[in-house]
Amino acid sequence: MNEQIRPSATVEDYLGVIYTIARYGERVIGARLAESLEVSAPTVTATLKRMERDGWIRIDENKEINLTNTGLTAARSVIRRHMLTEWMLSKVLKLPFSELHREAHQIEHTISSEVEQRLQSEMEDPRFCPHGNPLPGYEDAVSEWLALSGIEPGVEVILQRIHENLEDQYDSLSFLESQGLMPGVRIRVIEVLPFNETIQVQVNDRQVILGTRLANQLYVSLIN
Ligand SMILES: [Zn+2]
Ligand SMILES: [Zn+2]
Repeated sequence: MNEQIRPSATVEDYLGVIYTIARYGERVIGARLAESLEVSAPTVTATLKRMERDGWIRIDENKEINLTNTGLTAARSVIRRHMLTEWMLSKVLKLPFSELHREAHQIEHTISSEVEQRLQSEMEDPRFCPHGNPLPGYEDAVSEWLALSGIEPGVEVILQRIHENLEDQYDSLSFLESQGLMPGVRIRVIEVLPFNETIQVQVNDRQVILGTRLANQLYVSLIN
């Protein structure tokens, strides 16, 4: 319904980040956006002012940023296009796992709603992106998964999700890919050393040592 007034690529990036932070109940403020989008605080402030003027967001007295209904619709649309594009790059073009996010980020803004619908059916209505992050509307589907960092030694799990926060970190994604740590893989926890902030896991025929901070962003389901 708001297709004719799709925002600029910059505004879409802001809307996407605001949506992604807000959907897990976190507070959205300018400083967080500056960090996430890697732009200066004055730039964020100026862009947010324009976005408020144009009706995408509302900024309350505590400087908290909220999406308006129009902003929410636009944010969900760009996130959906991003995730469907990741699937297209993965399934059709067979791009390496670590490249999917940044390549999709370049293309997502130019996808028409016709192509978006086509992708949705061609990719068989996915609920998650290739990293296991939920498409808008499927947020509840990830709520049962547990952070790998909290799993006890000896327990076997399936890696389901590499959190959105990691998708921007190419080095981390590339490392995970090189170790075979991608959604769907079976993992056995070997050793957890909290004082060392490491967790050692078995993935296929290799043993991998992960830092707790990285393992905090990997979500798994238990194998019964
Ligand atoms: Zn992505
Ligand atoms: Zn993704």
